[in-house]
Amino acid sequence: MNVHIHAAPKLVGPAAAFVAAPKKLLIGGQWVPALSGKTTEVIDPSSARVVAHVAEADKADVDAAVKAARAAFEGPWSRMLPAERAKLMWKLADAIDAITDELATLNSLENGKPINDSRKGEVPFTAETFRYFAGWATKINGEQIPISAPGDWHCYTRREPVGVAAQIIPWNFPLSMLAWKIAPALAAGCTVVLKPAEQTPLGALRIGELFAEVGFPDGVVNVITGFGETAGAALSAHPDVDKIAFTGSTDVGKLIARAATGNLKKVSLELGGKSPTIVLPDADLDVAIAGAASAIFFNMGQCCTAGSRLFVHKKVYDRVVEGVAAGAAAMRIGAGLNPETEVGPLISREQFDKVTGFIEDGRRDGAEIVTGGESFGEDGFFVTPTVIAKTRPDMSVIREEIFGPVVCAIPFDTDDLDAIARDANDTAFGLAASLWTRDLGLAHKLAAKVKAGTIWINTHNFNDCALPFGGFKQSGWGRELGAQALDLYTQVKTVAIRLP
Ligand code: ADP
Repeated sequence: MNVHIHAAPKLVGPAAAFVAAPKKLLIGGQWVPALSGKTTEVIDPSSARVVAHVAEADKADVDAAVKAARAAFEGPWSRMLPAERAKLMWKLADAIDAITDELATLNSLENGKPINDSRKGEVPFTAETFRYFAGWATKINGEQIPISAPGDWHCYTRREPVGVAAQIIPWNFPLSMLAWKIAPALAAGCTVVLKPAEQTPLGALRIGELFAEVGFPDGVVNVITGFGETAGAALSAHPDVDKIAFTGSTDVGKLIARAATGNLKKVSLELGGKSPTIVLPDADLDVAIAGAASAIFFNMGQCCTAGSRLFVHKKVYDRVVEGVAAGAAAMRIGAGLNPETEVGPLISREQFDKVTGFIEDGRRDGAEIVTGGESFGEDGFFVTPTVIAKTRPDMSVIREEIFGPVVCAIPFDTDDLDAIARDANDTAFGLAASLWTRDLGLAHKLAAKVKAGTIWINTHNFNDCALPFGGFKQSGWGRELGAQALDLYTQVKTVAIRLP
């Protein structure tokens, strides 16, 4: 049975002071209230209590932020040398590191995730992403191209920044998503209007303060807090935004792609997933069991890459499912700020209702709840880690992205890699997959057959700044991280010179 340790320590120190201070929008280097004067609540998902209020931007604030980003793009940022941009980005990374505890606290307060995951995982990864892309700022070049036309020619390409980038991010990794978006944009020479998710604005506002502190010119990074349907929609449709980058649900991704058609701004989308974890019979089962559990329960399953369909060969199915279920039942549940916590709350009441609704659908459709499936919604949005078995391919728990700590275990009884891949690929999504085996030959062959943007072998949810990340099928457009991320924020100009 899961141990419950709801209580969170009282908020003290710099994070408490930041939460208590008034929150405004960062536009053109100034902190300003929303023009409407409206504010919106930030809720601690472990207690369902309001912890802060932030400005609620809408279209008029979006216009002001885009104007500021445009002025910075045409002005000081375009004159800044690549090496100077790189230095500022390094300084920002150092400034993030210097307030690791404060950022980790804000992150776990508003998102609910275990504080150790914020402190040891997300905050350092955020800083590292800025450092990685700082390195690229001085290495973005075109090429000289020999051509076959008669006469003497000198032809080359330039890689120029796309311009003003609007970036809309989700609540599941509020800090690292910010870095994945802003860092490559700045390296490429773009300016930014960032809209954090309405559930998790605090970390983005705190990092917003650091941009001015380390010396970024006004307007290079603007942060506007507000709702998707208003501020987010205004950004997506804005005629003076050159590029929109979005991470979030597939449904909203489609809305954004449609809204972007007005001025045909460039679009990149990192969307949902229903990633398979595939355990072959020769796998190291202790490693595979721990890996399969972490694949779904890390971040309470609120990962677009969560391993939510666990395919296990019949020969080892009982042992793997029992192992994952036992691990799930042993996890300590509590407020993210409690250092003992392994499973925090879901982000919001809405998400709680959605996840518990899926579990109920599964039950009603005749699936077996092997473990978990309990929920505590009055005082925080907690759902116990859940393993479901005896599903059918048409059930909603199999077809839909649940975005919670819920995994469906599915046995397979074949060694035919095409058949295994066919089942794994039976989804509208294609973000990631993990394969668990000691046989590297099988691993490489199956990796080629599974339709997903990332294939992990004997690991899951592994990211590195240097590795491109993004989706096949309805999991998105474009690749973030790695050198490929720069393609999202640059455009190629061809220069052809006829030599006299
Ligand atoms: P979730 O459903 O998990 O909250 P969303 O895709 O709705 O995920 O949210 C991700 C981000 O997209 C958030 O910053 C949210 O405010 C924003 N968003 C939601 N709806 C829209 C929209 N219609 N246009 C632009 N952004 C939106």
